[in-house]
Amino acid sequence: MPTAFITGITGQDGAYLSRLLLGKGYRVVGLLRRSASSDVVGERLRWIGVLDRVELMDGNLTDLSSLIRILQACQPDEVYNLAAQSFVAASWQQPLLTGNVTGLGCVNMLEAMRIAAPHARFYQASSSEMFGKIQAARQNEETPFYPRSPYGAAKLYAHWMTVNYRESFGMHTSSGILFNHESPLRGIEFVTRKITDGVARIKLDLARELSLGNLDAKRDWGHAADYVEAMWRMLQQNAGDDYVVGTGRTATIHEFCKLAFGHVGLNYEEHVVTRQDLLRPAEVDILHADPTKARERLGWTPTVSLEDLAAEMVEADLARYRAGTRG
Ligand code: NDP
Ligand code: GDP
Repeated sequence: MPTAFITGITGQDGAYLSRLLLGKGYRVVGLLRRSASSDVVGERLRWIGVLDRVELMDGNLTDLSSLIRILQACQPDEVYNLAAQSFVAASWQQPLLTGNVTGLGCVNMLEAMRIAAPHARFYQASSSEMFGKIQAARQNEETPFYPRSPYGAAKLYAHWMTVNYRESFGMHTSSGILFNHESPLRGIEFVTRKITDGVARIKLDLARELSLGNLDAKRDWGHAADYVEAMWRMLQQNAGDDYVVGTGRTATIHEFCKLAFGHVGLNYEEHVVTRQDLLRPAEVDILHADPTKARERLGWTPTVSLEDLAAEMVEADLARYRAGTRG
């Protein structure tokens, strides 16, 4: 039975990846950072039905010694580094923490592996935010980077260190440059989930309006369940490499609002208000993936349309409110 170690196991992707790997017969070990709210940290793993099937080990991505001890104890075949301060907007408020966790945290994981599990395969959760102010209409592995936030800059450092450990030490390291991916387990602060949560509240007469920022930004949105499959496929290749993962379709926030509100028969223009304080110091106006390499080398294609994604997220948020378990 192969062993996978996942940092960020309590996040959106951690839950979907755990379910995928357990289904493939893996032993799944996850990094759990200490929290005073430890009763709710496993909520996503519980929601997806795997909380009692994964092993959680205490540590922190910023504490190298904890990572070394965990690797020595569980001897993984594959390491998925998903942990990060992952919210772009927060990265301007906490740029140093973002650098420490999202940037240096990756190097802590690579160093821990070099010391304690040098033959394990490594996946780094890189991001389309590294393209930032885009240098090509469609972004692929050859497109130059131009990050626009402390988050994007931290991810870029982690990306290049992942490449560097591959080239310097011959380690099997892969960087998945993933475009935005969403699901009912997406953090509530991200725009898609904020919208579907707002739709549920408005539909159930718990609210009348929803405040958003820049509605003209365009994103290439897919479903997290599809994207964790791409992560796993990268680590099954003979050598590590870099891959862009996205749908190849881009849409505005307006369009996502239209789909989500429209799913329950509402007109978003009657409910969405824009607020200046929700605009960002620097914006990524448009992201649009060219996922040709992932399709050709990994045989990966997305399976969930934007329409179905929005509908699934709205239904899940309605169900949470009806059951009294919003979260
Ligand atoms: P989430 O924000 O849902 O999850 C982040 C995870 O990181 C949580 O498990 C969190 O733990 C953990 N974490 C944060 N800080 C630390 C720390 N110091 N030590 C240990 N664990 C920590 O992110 P997603 O699941 O959406 O994304 C997974 C990864 O992919 C992230 O690195 C993200 O930046 C990246 N990514 C995501 C994209 C997306 O569209 N979702 C697109 C491209 C890249 P806790 O639960 O305790 O907070
Ligand atoms: P990001 O692409 O990782 O930054 O994902 P987000 O979901 O946080 O943001 C996607 C886009 O939605 C960005 O261009 C934001 O400026 C835009 N946006 C507009 N209104 C909001 C809002 O209220 N919250 C968030 N999070 N994003 C918003």
